[in-house]
Amino acid sequence: MKEINHTMMQYFEWYLPNDCNLWNVVAQKASRFNKMGITSIWLPPAQKSAAGINDTGYGCYDLYDLGEFYQKGTVRTKYGTKEEYLNAIRSLQNAGIKVLADIVLNHRLGADEKQDVIACRVDSENRLRSISDYKTISAWTKYNFDGRNNKYSSFKMNWSHFNAIDYDCNTNENDIFRFYGKHFSLDVDQEKGNFDYLMGADVDFNNLDTVDELNFWGKWFYDTTHVDGFRLDAVKHIRSSFYKRWLHDLNQEFNTHLYTVGEYFSYNIDSLINYLEYNTEVDTLFDVPLHGHFMEASRKAGDYDMRYILEDTLVDRRPSKAVTFVDNHDTEPGQILESWIDSWFKPLAYALIMLRDKGIPCIFYGDYYGVPQYNIPPMKDFLDILLLTRKYLAYGKQHDYFDDPNLIGWTREGDYYHQDSGVAVVLSDGEGGGKQMNIGKNLADTVLYDCTGNVKETVYVDKNGNGIFYCNGGSVSVWIKKDNMYNL
Ligand code: CA
Repeated sequence: MKEINHTMMQYFEWYLPNDCNLWNVVAQKASRFNKMGITSIWLPPAQKSAAGINDTGYGCYDLYDLGEFYQKGTVRTKYGTKEEYLNAIRSLQNAGIKVLADIVLNHRLGADEKQDVIACRVDSENRLRSISDYKTISAWTKYNFDGRNNKYSSFKMNWSHFNAIDYDCNTNENDIFRFYGKHFSLDVDQEKGNFDYLMGADVDFNNLDTVDELNFWGKWFYDTTHVDGFRLDAVKHIRSSFYKRWLHDLNQEFNTHLYTVGEYFSYNIDSLINYLEYNTEVDTLFDVPLHGHFMEASRKAGDYDMRYILEDTLVDRRPSKAVTFVDNHDTEPGQILESWIDSWFKPLAYALIMLRDKGIPCIFYGDYYGVPQYNIPPMKDFLDILLLTRKYLAYGKQHDYFDDPNLIGWTREGDYYHQDSGVAVVLSDGEGGGKQMNIGKNLADTVLYDCTGNVKETVYVDKNGNGIFYCNGGSVSVWIKKDNMYNL
C-alpha cells in the first residue's frame, strides 16, 4: 500500500517574538505544511503562563485559560487567543495534518498569593536527603484564578497540592524546600537522588484531589480542542504511574488512541527504555541520546567515530518508540539544557534522522527558519529538499555502510508504490571521498545526482545496482534519480 513517511515539525522556538500571532500564522500555512511533507505539527503550550505574553508556555499558571480570560496582564497568550488556537487546530486537521498539544503538568508558576508553609531544605544533589530542620517559610502556592471566575472548574490550588518550592519569601533564599508531610514520588528519574522536583511549585501527584482534577482537566482539554495527540512535558519529573492512568482513562473515555511523545530529557538510554516499558500508554519518547551523539560529533570536528553514531540511541534500541530530533527549544543557546549542534554538522544530522527507515523525525522551527536572536541562519532550502526526498523517495529496503570512522553511508532500494524512489546517502565528519554501495534493482542502470547540490558530478548506477557515491569533507550528499517525476 502506498503510505507516506511520517514527519513531525516543532512549530516554535524559544525566542519567537511576543506578537501573540503564532496561531494565526499556523492556520494560514496549514495547506503548505502538507505540500512540504509535514504530517504532524507540535504546537507550543496553549495555556496562560506566569509571564503572560512573554512566557514561552512552560511556566504554567492556569490550565483552563487557553487565551480566554484576563489573567497575568493579558487575555491572549504569547501565541494568541483560545479561538485562534482552536482555529489553528481545525485548519491543520482540515489540511490533513495531525496536531500535538504540549501538555505541562509538572509544576506551576505565578501564584496569586503567598502562604505560610512548614518545610525543610533538601540537598539539591540528593533530594531524598533533608539538610535542615522544619521551619515556616513563605511560599507562592495559592492559586485563585480570579480572572476565570470558576468557569470550567472551581478548583483552586494551595500548598497542599504541591510538594516543594524553590523560594522562601521570608528570607529571599533560593533552595529546594520540601513541605511538611510531603514526599517526592519514587517512580521518577533517579538523577540527583530523585528528580521529582524540577522548578516552581512542584505539583504533588500523590494528592488525590490534584490527580482527580487533572483527570477532569484532561477530558475538558480534549473535548475542547480535539487534538490528535500530545507532547508531554517533563515526564521524567512526574511519577510514571500518573500518565499511565491519565492516558488510559482519556483514551477509554473518548474511545480513541491519542498519540503521545514524551519529553524524557536524559542521555541515559536505559532510563528511557525503563520508562517506555513501564508506561505502555506513552507511544514514543524523544531520542535524547541521539541528540547527545550529534552534539558530541559536532564538537569533535572530525574526531568522532561515525560508525557508532546510532549505537545505543533510542532509534537503535527501540526503533518504533523513537521520535528523533536534532535540536529543540530547550537545547537552544541560552537555555538550561543548552546543547546546540554546531551548524556544520546539522545537515549530516538531519540526513540521519530523515532519510533512514526508522524513527519519526521532528524538524525544529529554529533550524528551519533560523534563530535571529543568535544570528543562526535558516536551513529552509536544505530542509525543504530533504523533506520532499523523504516524502517521495526515501522508501524500501535499507543497506548500511557504517564501516569507516569518517565516511559512512546507506542506501534505500525504493519500492513499487513510490515511483522513482530510492536514495543513497553519504556523509563524512572528516575528509570527503567515494563509497561503493549497492542501491538495489529499482535504480539499476540509471544516473543519480546529489539533490543537495554539494557535489556537482553525477553517478552512474550499473545494472547490478552498484555505484560509487561521493561527498565532500564535513558534508553530506543525497543521491537520487536524475530527471525524477517530482522535479526534485
Ligand atoms: Ca515533579
